[in-house]
Amino acid sequence: MANQSAIRTPIVCVMGHVDHGKTSLLDRIRGSSVVSTEEGAITQHIGATLVPIDAIIRMSGALSRVNINVPGLLFIDTPGHHAFTTLRARGGALADMAIVVVDINEGFRPQTIEALQILRNYRTPFVIAANKIDRIHGWRVHEGQPFLKTFAQQNERVQGVLETRVYELVGKLSDLGFNSERFDRVSDFARNICIVPTSALTGEGIPDILMMLIGLAQRYMTGSLRVTADGPGAGTVLEVTEERGLGMTLDVILYDGTLRVGDDIVVAGNDQIVETKVRSLLKPRPMSDILVEERFERVRSVTAAAGIKVAAPKLADVIAGSPLRVVRGGNRDEVIEQVRHEVQDIQVKLSDT
Ligand code: GDP
Repeated sequence: MANQSAIRTPIVCVMGHVDHGKTSLLDRIRGSSVVSTEEGAITQHIGATLVPIDAIIRMSGALSRVNINVPGLLFIDTPGHHAFTTLRARGGALADMAIVVVDINEGFRPQTIEALQILRNYRTPFVIAANKIDRIHGWRVHEGQPFLKTFAQQNERVQGVLETRVYELVGKLSDLGFNSERFDRVSDFARNICIVPTSALTGEGIPDILMMLIGLAQRYMTGSLRVTADGPGAGTVLEVTEERGLGMTLDVILYDGTLRVGDDIVVAGNDQIVETKVRSLLKPRPMSDILVEERFERVRSVTAAAGIKVAAPKLADVIAGSPLRVVRGGNRDEVIEQVRHEVQDIQVKLSDT
């Protein structure tokens, strides 16, 4: 299947004010992984979590009777603005979409506003998770349920409180120049930001937030998400770490093409471009293989989007945030030029922060 064009998994970053529930939301999404041998189960990648579309459909049940061709969502495991702005891809943000988490009981705080400004600057589509709905006084928990199901079972007072708080968020967003609505009332997704009431603690609203992200990707990004699955790989280095028995390794989010063992790659070192060859590609082992001594599973190749650990010679000097490019079919000079160009951009960015 040479040169087959496919829609890749969108990459999602979680942002928002401290303590509003970013980590809990990610944990909840990760924790939804039933037994990991099940077809379509959520899988742990290096530095990221893959939620396949089957898992999203399973969680959201009747919500999902739409024609979907986005294969799932890849969540970057590190939440926050820093991850969003320092992880770059071809000069833009590595994340294709974002969730902005706001504590529905506290409303907008400085970092919420900062996150929105960053997303506006990057023109990144996002949804708002109006989190901690279970803290509304009198809330009756319906573990893991879609929002409308649990909302219908709350008493009028509780429903009224939730509505008021959602409208406070709508008002705040309007002051900042964004049109928004509770997600189930949005008909024009190009003009309105969806607000999804959630609880990271009980999982209520989580199916909806996943479906809204799929909807955004489906409607507005399928062009930019289209990749040539067997094209040369392109990725971003999250971290450079030493691993026992492997030496220096790169934790990479691959956002385009395919990366294979034996590929020649180009990455950026502290003060020079590094050319090397992939010795091994490693994925975390599924939890079920806990008795196996090696922490990682070796794979021959990986296709975007994915988080993968790359072992290769000459990595000691590589910088976090560096682009990674595969050299294939005589494009070496072009690739080196691209990496050189992109690294200037990230160095400016790193010195800003
Ligand atoms: P972060 O700083 O944005 O990553 O926030 P955390 O995920 O660490 O959450 C901060 C605190 O709020 C923790 O004590 C969480 O258990 C709690 N928390 C997060 N989400 C919820 C929620 O939906 N409901 C309730 N009741 N507590 C939550």
